[in-house]
Amino acid sequence: MLVRFAVLAFAALVSLGPVIAAEAVKPILDSAEKHKPAAIRLWERLVNIDSGTGDAEGLKAVGAIAVDELTRLGAKIDTISSAPAAGDNIVATFTGTGKGKVLLMAHMDTVFARGAAATRPFRIERGRAYGPGVSDDKAGVVIAVAVLNILQDLKFKDYARITVFLNTNEETGSRGSRALIEKLAKEHDVTLNLEAGRAGDGITIWRKGSGTIKVEVKGRASHAGASPELGRNAVMELAHQMLQLSRLADAGKGTTINFTVVKGGDRKNIIPDHAEADADVRAVVTDEFDRVERELATAIRNKLIADTEVRATLIRTFPPMPQNAQIDVLAAMAQRIYGEIGKKLNLEGSGGAADSSLAAGVFRPTLDGLSLVGGNAHTDQEYAEVDSMVPRFYLLTRMVMELGRNPKNDQ
Ligand SMILES: [Zn+2]
Repeated sequence: MLVRFAVLAFAALVSLGPVIAAEAVKPILDSAEKHKPAAIRLWERLVNIDSGTGDAEGLKAVGAIAVDELTRLGAKIDTISSAPAAGDNIVATFTGTGKGKVLLMAHMDTVFARGAAATRPFRIERGRAYGPGVSDDKAGVVIAVAVLNILQDLKFKDYARITVFLNTNEETGSRGSRALIEKLAKEHDVTLNLEAGRAGDGITIWRKGSGTIKVEVKGRASHAGASPELGRNAVMELAHQMLQLSRLADAGKGTTINFTVVKGGDRKNIIPDHAEADADVRAVVTDEFDRVERELATAIRNKLIADTEVRATLIRTFPPMPQNAQIDVLAAMAQRIYGEIGKKLNLEGSGGAADSSLAAGVFRPTLDGLSLVGGNAHTDQEYAEVDSMVPRFYLLTRMVMELGRNPKNDQ
C-alpha cells in the first residue's frame, strides 16, 4: 500500500512538470552548444587514457581529470577505495537551495587492455567519435561535466543535492562499488545512469540481470588406450551437463543460458579427471534467477557417467532492472522534455546489465541510457554520435532541473 501510494505521489509530481516555454529552451540549447567544443576536448583526453578495469594507473589518471573538472564547478569531492577492485570511486557532491536529490552515475573503466588507446586513439569520422570506451562510458563522464557547466551558466541552484558518482569497476560487475551505489541510490530521490543512449536515439527503461552458472565435474584419470574403462571421463560428463543445463533457459520469459567458457583435459591419451564450464545467465526478473538456481540443483543429479561428481552453482552479478511504474513516469518525463526540442525519444530495453540495476535493486526510481547516442560497445567499432551531444545535454540538463525542483517525492 505504502509502495503504491509512493508511486502515485511520484507520478503526480514528475508528470505534471511545467511545459517549458520556447524562450526558456533557447538559453539551455545555447549553453549546450557553447560547451560542446570543451566537452569534445575533455572526451578526447579521457578516451586517450587506457583505463581498463583493474588498471590502477589509468583509472587514477581519468579520475584526476574528472575531479579537476568537478572541483572547478564547485563540487565537494570524496574518493572512496573500490577494493577489491583497483582505483578509487569518485563521489562529487553539489549542494543547492532546492529540494530534489539527483544521482548521476557513470563509470571510468573500460573493457579494453592497455595499449588500446595508442592503437586507435580518439577520432571523429563522418559525425561519429571512435576510440576505446568512447561511448561506454567515457561519454558518461563528459555529459555529467557538461550538464553541470550548463547548470552553472543558467545559475540554476534549485536542487538539494546533485551527486556525480564515477565507478572504477562497472565492467566486471561493480563488486567494489555495490554497497556504495546502493547507499547513494537510497540517499537520492532519483538515479540517472549515464550509460550510452541506444543506437536509434533511445533510453533504457529495463535491463536484464546477469549471473554465471559454474559447473565443475570430477572424474577419474586413466590411460585412454590401455584402460579407458577404469577412467571416469569428466569432459564427457560436462558435455552432458552443459546440454541439459542449457535447457533451463526460457525464451518466452527472456531467460538465456549460454555456455561461454569450457576447460577440461590436457593430454589426448588420458581420460580427463576434471572439467569445468561457465555459462552466462540473463533474466528479466529475479524470480527467474531463483527458478534457475532451484532447478539447477535437481538437474545435475541426472548424470551420464555414474561415478563422476558434479557441482553447479549460480553466482548472481547484477539484479534485473524491471520496467515499473516509477520508470514509466521518468521515461514519460524524458520524452516530454525531448519533445521540447522537437525530438522523439525511443524507450528500449537491454540484455546488458549495468549499475542502474543496483539502484533499481534497492527500489529507487532509476532511468538509464541518458548519455550520448552510441553503439558497438565492447568492440573496436565502438562509436558515439557527435550530433547527439547538444540534444542529450539538453535532455539531461532539463531532467536534472525538473527533478531537482521537485520535493522529496517518494517517502
Ligand atoms: Zn560496458
